[in-house]
Amino acid sequence: MARYDFRTPRLHLDAPLHSGAEVALDRDQSNYLFNVLRLPEGASVLLFNGRDGEWRSSVSKAGKRGGALHIAEQARAQTAATDLHLLFAPLKHARLDYLVQKAVEMGVSRIQPVITQHTQVTRVNVERMRANVVEAAQQCGVLSLADVDEPVRFAEMLEGLEPTRLLVFCDEDAEMRDPIEALAQARPAGPLAVLLGPEGGFSEAEREALVNRGHVLRVSLGPRILRADTAAVAALALVQAVLGDWAGSGV
Ligand code: SAH
Repeated sequence: MARYDFRTPRLHLDAPLHSGAEVALDRDQSNYLFNVLRLPEGASVLLFNGRDGEWRSSVSKAGKRGGALHIAEQARAQTAATDLHLLFAPLKHARLDYLVQKAVEMGVSRIQPVITQHTQVTRVNVERMRANVVEAAQQCGVLSLADVDEPVRFAEMLEGLEPTRLLVFCDEDAEMRDPIEALAQARPAGPLAVLLGPEGGFSEAEREALVNRGHVLRVSLGPRILRADTAAVAALALVQAVLGDWAGSGV
């Protein structure tokens, strides 16, 4: 990873970033910087917008309801996001927040809720998921924001999947074998998606559709049943370690 400044507060802004620009902060941003962090005028803040890399700025107006920042110079150039999708059956509030935040920390580029036959949760607050993406991205230093899609039905998800994308299907019924070896052997030429089921698991028809799709790697994550949020972190750690940016390459 490029040398990264962990001490300076970091803020995502949806505005063009360039040297010399003066940017106005909205209420929430001002509240965070000047009420919560109590930054004084002149304090440093790092900015990113997902497109223009990361920029150093300083507080030009510490207004608690509407402050402003002055942009100095670029700290890090924009890098391309790793192409890694997370497909999962939506969970209830707290665990969904957790899952989205952890997915961002693990380097996921697209978060796709999928409604399966046994999915209990059908209403998904996509705006809340996006807010969680921003919060996690600010904290973990990534330069791109993961996309969050509207929920799709299982069949649509399968249809929409590019044929070259390897689907890592996390299946508690899969035969147990070393997942590191399984991923290393699969070593896909194209990008990858990790798929997790709902609390009730996948139906037989869904399992069959997945197996028939081809270019699917069924992986077991050990002898215990994990909650989907735990399974997501475990599976993403394996993928990043064997094929992704933990291993020094992009997925
Ligand atoms: N069908 C299960 C629970 C599913 S757990 C039951 O009710 O008994 C939710 C999801 O997490 C699963 O669909 C799967 O994608 C993933 N998962 C949980 N434990 C797993 C394991 N040991 N190996 C692989 N995937 C697992």
